Amino acid sequence: MSHTISAASYVRATHVIPGGVNSPVRAFKGVGGTPIFFQRGQGPLLFDLDDNQYIDYVSSWGPLIQGYGFQPVLDAIHKQADLATSFGAPTLVETKLAECVVDRTPSIDKVRMCNSGTEATMSAIRLARGITGRDKIVKFQGCFHGHGDSLLVKAGSGVLTLGLPDSPGVPKDLAQHTITLPYNDVGAVHELFDSIGSQIAGVIVEPIAGNMGCIPPRSGFLEALRDETRDSGSLLIFDEVMTGFRVDRGGAQSLYNVDPDLTTLGKIIGAGLPVGAFGGKAEYMDQLAPLGSIYQSGTLSGNPLAMAAGLALLESLDDDFYRSLDRKTTQMTEGIRHIADQLTVDLVINKACGMFSLFFTDQSDVESYADVESCDADLYAKFFHHLLEQGVYFAPSAFESAFVGGSHTDQVISDTLDAIANTFSFLQA
Ligand code: PLP
Repeated sequence: MSHTISAASYVRATHVIPGGVNSPVRAFKGVGGTPIFFQRGQGPLLFDLDDNQYIDYVSSWGPLIQGYGFQPVLDAIHKQADLATSFGAPTLVETKLAECVVDRTPSIDKVRMCNSGTEATMSAIRLARGITGRDKIVKFQGCFHGHGDSLLVKAGSGVLTLGLPDSPGVPKDLAQHTITLPYNDVGAVHELFDSIGSQIAGVIVEPIAGNMGCIPPRSGFLEALRDETRDSGSLLIFDEVMTGFRVDRGGAQSLYNVDPDLTTLGKIIGAGLPVGAFGGKAEYMDQLAPLGSIYQSGTLSGNPLAMAAGLALLESLDDDFYRSLDRKTTQMTEGIRHIADQLTVDLVINKACGMFSLFFTDQSDVESYADVESCDADLYAKFFHHLLEQGVYFAPSAFESAFVGGSHTDQVISDTLDAIANTFSFLQA
């Protein structure tokens, strides 16, 4: 497989775009080599500038749950584009998408649209701080909530120590208000709330972690967060930018039956156009400007193209879709499990509906960032490149989720499993 045009395009991009990419993980630093430049997608397939074809499991990092070129989404975009691309004024399509989100998500009475997941989480944090009059935010190791200052923070040396900036440019004074706990560690949650619960504005969590690979919550973890936040008067924020409308009709919160106070959304609600949203109970959302005093805004927020695309996509996702998606995900993960067992590859496979991850490790479970860190990322890099050469595109990083969607047919999954079997045999040789 030749990647000559991709390689040349990357060199060209590096002259005018930092690192040649507009978001760091695209640069292939996690797996080595240089990024593939794509030109076209159709269903589950991607085609690059060198005319190579790949079965895709990145799905533009989650939004394209019905695959590339999904006709209802294309039709909605074309129809809206003929009318106008933006007004900066209210449109009916925003209300229709908001109604659709509210209808599917019992914890959301009202929702505000913005332009990215990062904006959604930044805004939800501001809202939690504004409502409670408190500064401290709790997040979990290995969860990613975009690149807002309060969330680009890493843990100090112990549960109760101050947070440290995770990037130059994040003020220390701000980072100290963010506390980072181990994911799935109920004991650490109780310990923290016992000592400083009354200072905490909000807890933000991926209810199924997807940004350190797919890690479902242990039984009781989300419930403990719900109880502690309720008891201490702080807000529980589920970051469902990735899991929203992917793992269930109502996201992870409906799968686990835990109602957060605020929810952040993105990806699928824009069907691949730039979008984010945050929503929750009316008593909280009504504290935003113009009704309340907590400020948040956006020139392109509720952009009609993105709203029309998102609405068309959401309308296609009914209960039957999720039943079928869950079956496909299981077909994929059980197929990989079977191959790994036959070839004695040490592998943990985690899954939720529509997403899964492979962890190269001899541990029996992967349930936290510490578990993830002990996995063999070099082996993943070899797996990635060998698979790529066989026409299967997984995420160019060991610590991401793979996404299955409506366009992955049984035949496509079976072809993928053949390529994975070849790759495991190659890695064993
Ligand atoms: N929250 C989660 C759970 C995400 O997965 C992401 C992005 O991957 C974000 C927030 C940030 O979203 P965006 O990249 O649209 O800013």
